[in-house]
Parts: sequence; structure tokens; C-alpha cells
Amino acid sequence: MRRPLVAGNWKMHGSRADNATLVHGLLDLLQPGARADVLLCPPFVYLWETGRLVKDSDVALGGQSVCAEAQGAFTGEVSGAMLRDVGCRYVLVGHSERRQVYGESDSLVARKFVAAQASGLVPVLCVGETLDEREAGRTSSVVDRQLDAVLAVTGVGALGSAVIAYEPVWAIGTGRNATPDQAQEVHEAIRAKVAALDGTIADSVRILYGGSVKASNARELFAMPDIDGGLVGGASLKADEFAQICAAAG
Ligand code: PEP
Repeated sequence: MRRPLVAGNWKMHGSRADNATLVHGLLDLLQPGARADVLLCPPFVYLWETGRLVKDSDVALGGQSVCAEAQGAFTGEVSGAMLRDVGCRYVLVGHSERRQVYGESDSLVARKFVAAQASGLVPVLCVGETLDEREAGRTSSVVDRQLDAVLAVTGVGALGSAVIAYEPVWAIGTGRNATPDQAQEVHEAIRAKVAALDGTIADSVRILYGGSVKASNARELFAMPDIDGGLVGGASLKADEFAQICAAAG
């Protein structure tokens, strides 16, 4: 049985004061003994302090990106070892904003995935199609290509210590979520693709849905058989709404 995971991606939001209010509010609202794992991904500069705020809880910490290199002259970058050093267990790789705004290619995402695992981090590999790609009937070929870029470098075994997040780009930050059926169709295809390579890993790998998850739609999305939780942007900035989303995951 896969344990659900709900990850909050704060993107480039927050301040020390806002974060303290958000995390204290969230810790008060999370149900003790809940089944779902909870992960917070603040901006780099707030990782350490957020880690202090959650240190007596089960809430995990993650980065929003990671450098593909281990160390050196890479101004502005943050390595996997640094993320581990400040308490991260997870890191997002290939978020659509990194792919689209910063031009991260499939091959760079694959190198970041490898760098994350080499540092002992669990990568949350984000995949998903744009609206144009969906409308052109290319959803599965785009998601396949994004997954294949990683699988070609790592092999399927690496998915045994990774998370996949299906995030249709047209649903991110738009208020327009994929329907549970639309999301399930892609999640099922991802799991089938992994199953063709390794059935055990396919059964255990967690596949999160991301894209305008809210308290009002989380339960029906998470009820789908291949949706193992969510990657939540905007709604993770509100303690009460994010806590409701976590509760919806179990
Ligand atoms: C995200 O940041 O990955 C995301 C899914 O954002 P939102 O929930 O705001 O659509």
C-alpha cells in the first residue's frame, strides 16, 4: 500500500514572519497520526529556519530545485549536499517553471535527478504537458519523453527511491485543475510504463498530481487509484486549506 504524500511548493513566496505564521498554523491543524506524509518546499533561503520550525513534527523539508553539479564555480546554485546539510529529504526536479521559464532541458533534469539521489535526496520528478500539447493529442508522448530522459540515464531502479509528480502545465496556478479522470488516465499510463520495466517499483512508486489542487477538489482527485497525493502550490500558502488537503489524502 502506497503511503500518500502531500507536498507544498511555496515557489518564490513568503517571508520569515509569514513562514512562521504559516508553519505554526499548519502544525496546529495537521491531524496527529494521519496517514499522509507532508512535505514543505520553501525557497532556499528559508529552508534552515523552516526546518527548525518543523523539527519536532513529522513534516519533511525539500528544496525546489538542485544543481546538477556537486560543488564549485556555479554562482547562484545550490547543491544536493547543501540541501541535505540543512535538513532536506526531498527535492523537486523538473518543475514546469524551471523547464519553461529557465529553459531546463530533459537532459538537465535527468542530471539533476541523478545529483539529487547521489546526495541522498529523494527527487520529486515533475512531468506534464502544456495546453497546446494536450490539445494536439501529445500528452502521453510528452510525459513519456520526460520520463524516458531520466530512465535512460538512471534505469528503472532509481524510481524505487523517487517520487513522480504529474503536473499538467495548463493546470498550474490557473485555478483549472485536471478532472480526476483526466489525471487518473495519465497516472495510470505512467504506472503502466514503469510496470513494463519493473512491476514491484510500479506498485510502490508514488505518483502525485499537481495543478490547482485545493481543499474543494483534493478528495476526489486523491480518491483515484493511481493518485498518491498532491504537489500543491498556491493552496500550500494557506495553513487551513493546506491542512484540509493533507487530511483529504488520508
Ligand atoms: C505547483 O507549484 O507545482 C503547483 C501545482 O501550483 P498550483 O497548485 O498553484 O497550481
